[in-house]
Amino acid sequence: MNIKTKLTLTIGILVAMIVLLVALSVVNLQILTATDPDSPAAGPGLQRALLWISIVGAACICVGIGIWLRLPASINKPIKEITNGIQEIANHNYEKRLDLNGNQEFAEVSKNFNRMAKRLEEYHASTLSEMMAAKKYMETIINSINEPIIGLNNEMEILFINDEALNVLNLKREEVIKRSAQEISMRNDLLRRLVRELIDIPSQKIRSDKTQKEPLKIYADDKESFFQVKYISIIQSGRNSATPEKKGHVIMLKNITEFKELDSAKTTFISTISHELKTPISAIMMSLQLLEDKRVGTLNNEQEDLTNSIKENSERLLNITGELLNMTQVESGKLQLKPKITKPIELIEYAIKANRVQAEKFNIQIEVEYPEDKIGKLFIDSEKIAWVLTNLLSNAIRYSPENGHVVIGAHQTDDNYIEMYVQDFGKGIDPRYHKSIFDHYFRVPGTKVQGSGLGLSISRDFVEAHNGTLTVQSELGRGSKFIMRLKA
Ligand code: ADP
Repeated sequence: MNIKTKLTLTIGILVAMIVLLVALSVVNLQILTATDPDSPAAGPGLQRALLWISIVGAACICVGIGIWLRLPASINKPIKEITNGIQEIANHNYEKRLDLNGNQEFAEVSKNFNRMAKRLEEYHASTLSEMMAAKKYMETIINSINEPIIGLNNEMEILFINDEALNVLNLKREEVIKRSAQEISMRNDLLRRLVRELIDIPSQKIRSDKTQKEPLKIYADDKESFFQVKYISIIQSGRNSATPEKKGHVIMLKNITEFKELDSAKTTFISTISHELKTPISAIMMSLQLLEDKRVGTLNNEQEDLTNSIKENSERLLNITGELLNMTQVESGKLQLKPKITKPIELIEYAIKANRVQAEKFNIQIEVEYPEDKIGKLFIDSEKIAWVLTNLLSNAIRYSPENGHVVIGAHQTDDNYIEMYVQDFGKGIDPRYHKSIFDHYFRVPGTKVQGSGLGLSISRDFVEAHNGTLTVQSELGRGSKFIMRLKA
């Protein structure tokens, strides 16, 4: 029944009842006026008339109240139902349907509403399944990578983790997904070591990718493995603006055990070869000494030149084998320091003595700057630090022009450090290479002077083993200054 019919019907009933009431009153009034007031029938007649009028009047009032209460509710109810339905849809409950078929005006609305809800339900189901499929696909890709990967959001909750990472961390998927990494790391040492780096990164720093220098040693599956840890920031471009937003981090572990094993095999190989070479080189040097001493007869000028050349090259070979041996000591972690109290001047004198012949050969003056009374003593492995200073002085001489001069010296700083330095006025080093010259085997491109590219890297390792620093200050065309800083 539609609202118009309902209203017409209701008003009709009300009018009919009022007409009935009026008619009844009129009839009763006519009967009463026709009756003699003194007759005995007048009293009961009046009472009967009043009773009927009251009954019909009360019925009219009841019907009126009933209509007054029911009519708005019967109009409001479907509107309320529609409002509820819209709210359910807004709350993503696409299963909601309306049943307003008893109401002509709203039947059409409810039919359209139900059609819309059905379409939304189908659409939602399809996008949800697409999203689920995409998620599954991503998970499969991440799992198929056989290096451990962990993804975290800004709140340090684990968003994804592949099987390899679960295996290395000895965790189960259900224990970690959507859980706080910090909370899990309380009972997992390895995870704690991995996330520690992230806690130090300020959250507002957008790009914070970094690779841990020291490889991570992990004992899993009854064997020792080495991993290089890489931290990558997840950056998402803003929806409407180009401002990038940091969404979290990915921790990637690269298994470098194989490289480590190869590296260690290489170190052992170099160490063995260098050791084996030292003996024949020393034998050559001894034979040369005999030739020089003329114990086996005098040499003519040509033979002398040849022995000098053999000696020079043998010394170079001995130097290189010494450098290689030093390098293998550092690389294999077998560097053992034998510290003793040493005066810096002793080291300087040693370095000068070791380089005297070479300096004389190129006519290079060695100046010493040493304020004796202002310098304390060092507690160092003097052999190693003397080797460093000798190497720096040798470089200064080798990379200086003939007839030049170099400076070797030391001074004590206010914060109780002793700085020993070697300065030359040669061609200098391009600032681009100031970092790389301390790498193994690195030589500045175009360097003509012969060398192995090992001296500076070993020197830095030796100095750092003493908790000191070795730095360079150099300008092209102006020369270089190498400064070794050690605690007094
Ligand atoms: P090597 O001298 O045997 O090549 P080093 O490790 O001592 O190896 O030095 C690395 C490189 O740094 C050298 O090849 C050279 O190019 C550069 N270098 C080192 N010292 C100096 C210096 N005093 N002046 C100019 N270049 C230098």
